Amino acid sequence: MNGSRGERQGPRKTLAVMAGDTIRARVRAKYLDLRQEQPGLTADMILAALSGAPGYTVTVEGAATRIAVNSTGATALLNPLEEEQQPKAFLSWQFLPANGKKLDEDGGFDQVSAAAAISNKTGVGNHEVLEVEYIVKQKGWINLELDMAGADSYEAESRNIDVYFDDFEVAHHHGLIVQEDSYYPFGLTFNEYKMEGTLANKFKYNGKEEQEEWGVIDYGARMYQADLGRWFNVDPLADSSWSFTPYHYVANNPILLVDPDGRDFYIWYENDKGKTVHFRFNGSNAADAPDNKFVQQFITAYNYNVENGGGEKMQAIAGNSDIKIGVAETEFSSQHHLGNIYWNPNAGAEYENGTVVSPATVLEHESDHANQRATNYKQWDNDSRSNKEELRVINGSEQKTAKANGEIPKNGVTRTRHEGKAVITYGPTSNKVNKAATQAHQKRLIERAKKALDQNQ
Ligand SMILES: [Zn+2]
Repeated sequence: MNGSRGERQGPRKTLAVMAGDTIRARVRAKYLDLRQEQPGLTADMILAALSGAPGYTVTVEGAATRIAVNSTGATALLNPLEEEQQPKAFLSWQFLPANGKKLDEDGGFDQVSAAAAISNKTGVGNHEVLEVEYIVKQKGWINLELDMAGADSYEAESRNIDVYFDDFEVAHHHGLIVQEDSYYPFGLTFNEYKMEGTLANKFKYNGKEEQEEWGVIDYGARMYQADLGRWFNVDPLADSSWSFTPYHYVANNPILLVDPDGRDFYIWYENDKGKTVHFRFNGSNAADAPDNKFVQQFITAYNYNVENGGGEKMQAIAGNSDIKIGVAETEFSSQHHLGNIYWNPNAGAEYENGTVVSPATVLEHESDHANQRATNYKQWDNDSRSNKEELRVINGSEQKTAKANGEIPKNGVTRTRHEGKAVITYGPTSNKVNKAATQAHQKRLIERAKKALDQNQ
């Protein structure tokens, strides 16, 4: 390269980069500077010659000055090289952010210095190595290039020196990010990035799979169009939200709501005709619930927990379109069995220290087991072999909801062991023991146990 017109731009490389990537570039450079023909000449000798000391001769040859030292035989063309007269050649980089927002550090360079000067005509000698390194802070592009400042500026003559580059290397070390997607509220992607040579993760917005050939997102029951914020198919529950178009997505409020479509709680009950049917409860369709005592008790318990600031696991089930938890009534103690909840809407529980929790709190306890089994089966399966699963629930959701429902003090615990007995309270949200009803309940439990024993004999 050379400072004259048309020769100032060397090779350039542009790379798409991600936060965490490291870019390293290096190149060898040199230029010929015949003005240092005899490096044996020291600054002291030059000063002596210029001051007219004996043994030195100074002659003018064209634009340059020749200095000869008679005693050593050293000689040089002296045309003082000020720093600004050295060729202005660079290995430089510029970062261009994908989001257009300028960074504090968005460029840099390494400049050819006097170390690159070769003083003999054959050009043999060491190169100077120029290096730059940059750790990328955000997604964008990086330009790496070899360039030179123009010779048409005030230092014209010095810039016309030829600068030679060799072995230009650019290394791009990828960070740990393989893919990045940003979303508009309704799920349309922007600012997408995928590392070259990797398989695309198609499970994007809300973890649902993108169907590239259709341009829709597969929610299982229905296909969603993120560019329109509309379902491709009619909502099977369209009747329950008649004020919206049947193609609406989360009531047109993706910031506050997640898709309530799904399997949720299946509350089983016996209808007027004596037939066992179910109501699918998603946490927000209580208004559509049938006028059935058990279904209404379940919803009362759900709303009580949630409104008090508990019921976290029940909400997780109601809001998760991928899981289906069956709920059925039992006249005995509430329990979770193989993904279904058998709930006694009248039975709370009394623990070691006299603490009584409501049937609503018990329902949250069983919901936690069911949710864990549905979403984290391996852990549930493993922990259920020991006391670990019970302790997780007792110390977690049970305590949290019992506190929210005011059944234990703020710094209290429900119990320290997985022990307790069912007690009949005055309704799903009550933790007051109905003694007579509790005695009758216990009598029924004993009769049931006796019956089971008789059958086994
Ligand atoms: Zn339990």
